[in-house]
Amino acid sequence: MNCSRGLKYSILLFFVVLISGELFSQVVKRIEPPFWFTGMSEKTLQLMVYGEQISTYDVTCNVPGLISGIIKTENPNYLFIDLVIPDDIKTNIVKFDFFKNKKIIESINYEFRLKSADKNRNKGFNNSDVIYLLMPDRFSNGDSKNDNSLQVLEKTNRSNPDGRHGGDIKGIKNHLDYIKDFGATTIWITPLLENNQPKYTYHGYAISNYYKVDPRFGTNENYVELVNEAHQKDLKIIIDVVLNHCGSGHWWMSDLPATDWVHQYDGFTRSNYRSEVVQDPYASKIDKSLQNDGWFDVNMPDLNQENKLLATYLTQNTIWWIEYAGIDGVRLDTQPYSDKDMVAAWAKRIQDEYPNLTIIGEAWLQEIAHTAYWQKNTINFDGYSSNIPVVTDFPLHYAIEKAFSEEQSWTDGVSRLYYILSQDFLYDNPMNTIVFLDNHDLTRIFSSFNKDINKLKLAIAFQLTTRGIPSVFYGTELLMEGFSHEAHGLMRKDFPGGWPDDIINGFAPQGRSDEQNEIYTYYKNILEWRKTKQVIHSGRLVHFIPENNIYVYFRYNDNECVMVVLNNNITPQILKTNHFSEMLNKYKSGFDIISKSEIQNLQELKLPAKAAMIIELKQ
Ligand code: CA
Repeated sequence: MNCSRGLKYSILLFFVVLISGELFSQVVKRIEPPFWFTGMSEKTLQLMVYGEQISTYDVTCNVPGLISGIIKTENPNYLFIDLVIPDDIKTNIVKFDFFKNKKIIESINYEFRLKSADKNRNKGFNNSDVIYLLMPDRFSNGDSKNDNSLQVLEKTNRSNPDGRHGGDIKGIKNHLDYIKDFGATTIWITPLLENNQPKYTYHGYAISNYYKVDPRFGTNENYVELVNEAHQKDLKIIIDVVLNHCGSGHWWMSDLPATDWVHQYDGFTRSNYRSEVVQDPYASKIDKSLQNDGWFDVNMPDLNQENKLLATYLTQNTIWWIEYAGIDGVRLDTQPYSDKDMVAAWAKRIQDEYPNLTIIGEAWLQEIAHTAYWQKNTINFDGYSSNIPVVTDFPLHYAIEKAFSEEQSWTDGVSRLYYILSQDFLYDNPMNTIVFLDNHDLTRIFSSFNKDINKLKLAIAFQLTTRGIPSVFYGTELLMEGFSHEAHGLMRKDFPGGWPDDIINGFAPQGRSDEQNEIYTYYKNILEWRKTKQVIHSGRLVHFIPENNIYVYFRYNDNECVMVVLNNNITPQILKTNHFSEMLNKYKSGFDIISKSEIQNLQELKLPAKAAMIIELKQ
């Protein structure tokens, strides 16, 4: 950053800009975004300037015509400066003078960096990718010096399941090879931005500064280094963005830019978390308003994205991180809880600027009809399109959770998988769904399966061969356990071996139990195989109504065909395959990639008990 000081008009002027937007100056306390970029396709920028009575100052800029407008709110401590950035801007530092009575009281330098010219920088991800989801506080502590940063209220206490445990960016960096070797291609890291509150901050979803990495995770520069190193290893990075709420410890909560910046109530008012009301033709006003405008939690005030200044602030913030760090994908938290028109405009603006980047929306809903509504270009009753191409498939998650623990009936057991997929016509693009066994908000799948390793193997085989983009929650490959009803912190236990004093090291095979190695290897082998299998990435899907507790489906394209058989019976079965002849008639033999064995007779398959077969068919 530029650092210079000067005496001018007998007033000390400070030109020190911190990357988090804070300024050590007398009048202007903050400018956000802290810097911006030239060469963007969108030429406008709106600066939020914060300082005592700042709206009573006049502002000029040394670049004529750069300022296109000044907006004031009812709070005199804020000033919003609209800029239009010319393509041929000559300087990378512009100067804003703040006047009172025609006298310059303060001058602030503002930096423009060049937008990266690398067209392959923000890669995006698709069905050929596999996501690894991790929570930075719980993955690995690479730097114990930042555990008890003086800048933050909550210090590290590893004995508290809901406390900070000290994991950080350095820890992720140290274990990129583990993630790559496992077979994931893309890392979704839950929010890394500052959460400066007295407690329950480790999860990162109560952001107190939108431009600053939490010091317990590291610095903004550390984050950029992580992204660069991941890219060098051919791994992609997804940023987790929260538009719906901020943290109650956010610096603006004590002096809101506008009274409608957050939804305010006489007493604490919680969201009802029922996003179905958005489409419900019979929804009451109170239910709709609570869903959208209620607070997410006592420490998570609900932001009002209908306020245009806030909408611009949040949109620019996402763009800033993408450009600053070179990010490949965005995961939007709590998609249905924000103003949906703002979200659609946000997503459009991001994709206009970064056409290759991929956005996932967390549409946490029970039903497919409700979920599909939130995917881009779905034909909706009200004409709405979210502009978000990928959505999380919670209905399929709930089906997976039950499918392998029940006997099959018309609707139960593996029939659940069949019925969920049979409703894929509701999506604009069912391939653009995230397929997950568990995540950071759900009971760990190994606990849901009552520690049955065979159920888990069936679920993994399904996850990695059905349509969609698989996402693996850290530790699922090591049989980590935890029930959501006990405590969220218990579903998000520390990755064994991630801390210098850990006795067990799950990052290495010799540190894992036999059962852990069995699942790790099972996952890894299918992931390795999947990596080059276009037929799984983008091939068509045909499935057959489950019978006798067995679910059979095929993935195929012009060149290849893969048959997947999920035998949910606890005994071995003989499967006569004449019922599948429409798919099988071209093929004579196959190779089961799970047992690594040739299959000479496709007429009658010998199915191992409670197990999957993934058969590459051969002509
Ligand atoms: Ca640490």
